[in-house]
Amino acid sequence: MDNPLDSLCIVMIQTSHPGNIGSAARAMKTMGVNDLRLIQPNKFNSPETSALASGADDILVAAQHFDTLSAAVADCQTVIGTSARSERTVSWPQLAARQCGEFVAEHLPSRKIALVFGRERSGLSNEELEHCHYLAHIPMAKEFFSLNIAAAVQLFCYECRMATQAKPESSSLQPGDRDDIPATSEVMEGFYQHLETTLTDVRYLDPENPRLLMRRMRRLFGRSAPTQNEVSMLRGMLAAFQGRKFQRRSS
Ligand code: SAH
Repeated sequence: MDNPLDSLCIVMIQTSHPGNIGSAARAMKTMGVNDLRLIQPNKFNSPETSALASGADDILVAAQHFDTLSAAVADCQTVIGTSARSERTVSWPQLAARQCGEFVAEHLPSRKIALVFGRERSGLSNEELEHCHYLAHIPMAKEFFSLNIAAAVQLFCYECRMATQAKPESSSLQPGDRDDIPATSEVMEGFYQHLETTLTDVRYLDPENPRLLMRRMRRLFGRSAPTQNEVSMLRGMLAAFQGRKFQRRSS
């Protein structure tokens, strides 16, 4: 693959200002990042979008539209949420923007990685955070910590580009053999649903009072980044607990 950044996608959730989508497209194109995914933007085809894209219209035209985050990142193996805040109830593994670039460079192109950007007003919801393996943050001045979303997209794409270029050619990982393929978000979502049902069946999880159990499970399994085969093994195990057989999907 010529450009490892082709395996990186930018996801924007319910962006309010159409101009921000145009500015983000421009920011992406200057850094060689081309895959834009939009989830229910407030307005998309506005003259402001195109004006602020300033020549990066091809990214807007090719942008894919989705209804939910899980659909937008279904084919990705790693999902990195970006947040203006750094503290949360169940803390996610955190990456500073520079570390995020290094992480991305280390894993491209053998993994598909999504960088997710939240709403201008409220950022990412807790439910959306559950789809993320990491949270990345641009440290800001204490006196004024309001960063425009397109500026954040620019900065993350810049860090990813710099780190990717700094990586020696020979160390660039190519997709491994079938046994090594990291599970995609879609496969992991199937596993989490199966896990939740099984834990409910065996009365370990009380649906009336689930507390943070599934969130903690997501964190645990997300951290271990299992391969497709390992997820099949785990699902086989869950099926056995339920006295059923798990039918692997042939892919
Ligand atoms: N009040 C919101 C701010 C959202 S800004 C909040 O507290 O979350 C809109 C989006 O821009 C954020 O969801 C994030 O994706 C990105 N962003 C803004 N500032 C950032 C920062 N310092 N680090 C990482 N991402 C940031």
